[in-house]
Amino acid sequence: MSRLQRLQERIEEEEPLLVTTEANVFYLTGFEGSNTALLVECDRVRLFTDFRYAESARQVPDVEFTEVRRDLYGALAGMLDGRIAFEAAGLTYDRWETLRDGGLELVPTRRVVEALRAVKDERELDAIRRATEITNRAYERLAEERFLGRTEKELAWTMERFLREEGADAAAFNVGLGTGPGGAVPHAHPSNRVVEHGHLVVVDAGAKVDGYNSDCTRTFAAGELDDEARTIYDVCLAAQRAALDATRAGKSGQEIDKVARERINAAGFGREFGHGLGHGVGILVHEAPTLRPESADSLEPGNVVTIEPGIYLPGRNGVRIEDLAVVTDGAPEVPTTFTKELVTVG
Ligand code: ZN
Ligand code: ZN
Repeated sequence: MSRLQRLQERIEEEEPLLVTTEANVFYLTGFEGSNTALLVECDRVRLFTDFRYAESARQVPDVEFTEVRRDLYGALAGMLDGRIAFEAAGLTYDRWETLRDGGLELVPTRRVVEALRAVKDERELDAIRRATEITNRAYERLAEERFLGRTEKELAWTMERFLREEGADAAAFNVGLGTGPGGAVPHAHPSNRVVEHGHLVVVDAGAKVDGYNSDCTRTFAAGELDDEARTIYDVCLAAQRAALDATRAGKSGQEIDKVARERINAAGFGREFGHGLGHGVGILVHEAPTLRPESADSLEPGNVVTIEPGIYLPGRNGVRIEDLAVVTDGAPEVPTTFTKELVTVG
């Protein structure tokens, strides 16, 4: 059954769904355009976009295409009527008002297409695996680089270049790279800070291939580490491995997060692991399901999630280790293959 058909099964007869989230339109049709809406009814699917995307919109199979003016929502307000379900997370207040003023009865929905997207089909898994293989090769090359004396910005650019040279359509996101105190914050923005002897260097990177992303973090040792840096690396790695082992269908995001969190707590670094354990990855780098203490999600076969505990000691060093895992009924498939043993760089 096609993705559109799976969605149509979930739709009420009297309540067509207006899909306006770009990632959801791409998921359902393969069509990419910034000014686009898809109206899904039980027995009919209509795609609306403007002149700029009209030529490619005409090629989309199984949909009726209507070219509209640049003011898409003004046009929709005039063309549609009655009860319409919309994506609460995908419509600005401004656009909602435009549709309401056109006389539509608007019914909010949440995570309808996102729930379908959370379970990947073989074609999606294949793209994610290829994106991950590219990322693995980029890390292999980065590990051969000289780190000491170079800036975070230089090394981040080097990594981004490796991703592209290995075949990425684009980097999945701006490469995160922090050295020493720069890596002691969860979202490291590369600066002109220079890698020094004794630093942990946290590198977060991924590739985008055919619209799908990968996501991987590794932490390198620049020269000899002190005991504290070595300890947080070992604690983080043990927690990451335990959580990965626990990852399988039927477990909740909360349970798996807890496996890592308890280990890090027991080692005395609970307060230094302030973020969630992981997130789904696909068309977006962050999507359903989530693995964190307040997560209500339960894992299903075909979910693709990251497992990424971290420990951050402000002003000193940080560590995070992140793999991608494809959820199954048994042990997860882990396409991330670059080593998790501590790699010392010069
Ligand atoms: Zn990441
Ligand atoms: Zn991540």
